[in-house]
Amino acid sequence: MERIKGKVVAITGASSGIGEAIARHLAALGAKVVLGARRVDNLARIAASISSAGGEVVYKRLDVTDAHDVVAFANYAVEQHGTLDVLVNNAGLMPLSMINSYKIDEWHRMIDVNIKGVLHGIAAALPIFEAKDSGQFVNITSVADRWVGPTSTVYSATKFAVRAISDGLRQEVSAHIRVTLVAPGPTESELAETISDPDLKQLAIEKFRLDLLPAAAIARGVAYAVAQPADVDVNEIVIRPTAQK
Ligand code: NDP
Repeated sequence: MERIKGKVVAITGASSGIGEAIARHLAALGAKVVLGARRVDNLARIAASISSAGGEVVYKRLDVTDAHDVVAFANYAVEQHGTLDVLVNNAGLMPLSMINSYKIDEWHRMIDVNIKGVLHGIAAALPIFEAKDSGQFVNITSVADRWVGPTSTVYSATKFAVRAISDGLRQEVSAHIRVTLVAPGPTESELAETISDPDLKQLAIEKFRLDLLPAAAIARGVAYAVAQPADVDVNEIVIRPTAQK
């Protein structure tokens, strides 16, 4: 974990759940973390807590659906810390629904945040990484990037897409730029709040209640990948609760 010390790590969707846990864990390991999300009150609270624990942290309001905003976020990391070493594309939402309930606005939102948000992150950070010929993308997908079931059709489609994008990106970039995909199973966070159908929300909460991973478990997976020597690219990490087969 010594290699994490001093790295500049920008995290999208750092205002709760997995993104917050990644920020806290990497900061505790000595990374300079840059937090982005729309809820700046949450970011301020999390940054204050990281800072009072001795971590180095800044934050900026970020909407990943706006490509210019994401460029400004990546540039802010460089302005504050002189460089950007890792971009964690974590922001996402999961409004599960059956296709024939035609929640078309929610389909659009998932595509905008889960897919286009990641592409915007790549477009913002890749020029910075290419200029110094080093850097790492950590894209947070889901076990739904390889599995689909009723109500997860569109959500899974967005995560399948991010898996494809990550695979293609890794092959296109220089030999010194790393691309890591982290696929969590059910994890403690606010994600179920994005399900608008009350029955489905209750079902999702009850289904996974007993075997949720702590968000810190995903953060440890991210830290493992970031801590590898520069010539080692951990391509994929899948993390499930032990009880879920
Ligand atoms: P949370 O709802 O707790 O966190 C989602 C984060 O995404 C929030 O910080 C939210 O911030 C941010 N976000 C949403 N929309 C935008 C936007 N337009 N611009 C910037 N940030 C945005 O859920 P999780 O921590 O669980 O989710 C994080 C990632 O993990 C997602 O990609 C999710 O798909 C993935 N995942 C989660 C699993 C789980 O069981 N929890 C399992 C597998 C994958 P704000 O609202 O402040 O903008």
